[in-house]
Amino acid sequence: MLIAGVMQQDTIFAMASGAGRAAIAVMRVSGPRAEALLAALAGGLPAPRRAVLRRLRDETGEVLDRALVLWLPGPSSYTGEDSAELHLHASRAVIEAVAEALVAQGGRPAEAGEFSRRAFLNGKMDLLEAEAIADLIAAETRAQARQALRQMEGALSAVYHDWAGRLRAVLAHQEALIDFPDEDLPPEVEARLLAEMAALRAEMRAHLDDGRRGEKLREGLVFAVTGAPNVGKSSLVNALAEREVAIVAATPGTTRDALETRIVLAGVPVTLVDTAGLRETADPVEAEGVRRARARAAEADFRVCVVVAGEGAGEAADLVVANKIDLGGAVPAGALGVSARTGGGLDVLRAQLAEAARRLTQQSGPPPLTRARHRAALLAAMERLDGALAAPWPELRAEDLRLAMRALGRITGVVGVEDILDAIFSQFCIGK
Ligand code: GDP
Repeated sequence: MLIAGVMQQDTIFAMASGAGRAAIAVMRVSGPRAEALLAALAGGLPAPRRAVLRRLRDETGEVLDRALVLWLPGPSSYTGEDSAELHLHASRAVIEAVAEALVAQGGRPAEAGEFSRRAFLNGKMDLLEAEAIADLIAAETRAQARQALRQMEGALSAVYHDWAGRLRAVLAHQEALIDFPDEDLPPEVEARLLAEMAALRAEMRAHLDDGRRGEKLREGLVFAVTGAPNVGKSSLVNALAEREVAIVAATPGTTRDALETRIVLAGVPVTLVDTAGLRETADPVEAEGVRRARARAAEADFRVCVVVAGEGAGEAADLVVANKIDLGGAVPAGALGVSARTGGGLDVLRAQLAEAARRLTQQSGPPPLTRARHRAALLAAMERLDGALAAPWPELRAEDLRLAMRALGRITGVVGVEDILDAIFSQFCIGK
């Protein structure tokens, strides 16, 4: 039985586990012929959801592997369809032989994201939950994984479902006002509707004004390191990354281009952009480097300006670092004195940067938006609510409320999302 009534014709299969050397490789099968495929390869169907050891054979009877197999009948499977899992020995030879046997039995290799797409179409998850699965698989840090898990568990969906439910109630009342204008509806009904619409709008606004915390944690932050040539920017970035990435050189202007280094601060991926020496120059190549560095620094989430202790205060930044304190220069007021050479002050620098990363992605209250897609749809919903609040006639207000609900519905995938499914699920890896 399929909840959304979407019957997929093909039976698909793919490796659910990754490439590379491993003991076990998990092959996943889903679709109407999953039962027949499993029975053919494993010589019969095991009890549902029980792991059993079986010899897998091709159509000539040759043994391909001895594997743990699982029969996962729909609808209580990942995709909602009849499914099977084959825990194979992870050699290329075995995987290829089993894939050939599955094709011979009428299966076909899955496309990227096809399992999750079927799960969505069968009502097993909404779009936010599907996106969260992709995020969890891609998560590099615990903080990212935590955010993805929270969204996967439906915390973000709950926010939108709540708004959609309240909008539906407002719309129902509005339509009652239109349909029964002569009934003696209490005059405060309309006032209450307007108040609820204003409240919803305010909540959406607050959700949008979250400093893009969710998106930043998902995508990672950008910290720009600016300052004149030779102040020690590359040396500091190297020290923070604890590896040699930038070219440390004694001649000014060697760090021609913006160099990027990814580090993890407070569980947040941070790209340190070591900008080319910000000085005026006649060399066109270097001038281009300076231009790019300024652009990158301008859009960065946090700016660290490096100066040499005892040589001026530097430009405006979120944090001014006075390097080379080992040479004895004075640290300007408000700056943090460090030495990339001796390592002095680097622990404090690292802690201050981590604190900034935490602050920029800190999450309290409702779960944050994690993608520009959500932001755009929510903005559209809010504009429709604005329209509804300003509508001169009840009929126009009802129409705006309907459009606001549609915009909200696109976020979770309740309505009109066919056009965005390809974009979302093609980002998945094959086997998901
Ligand atoms: P950038 O052009 O700002 O990236 O500067 P570099 O990192 O390439 O460093 C320029 C020069 O300053 C190199 O010779 C470094 O060895 C030196 N340097 C960097 N940090 C320190 C420091 O803390 N103390 C001293 N004495 N020299 C440093």
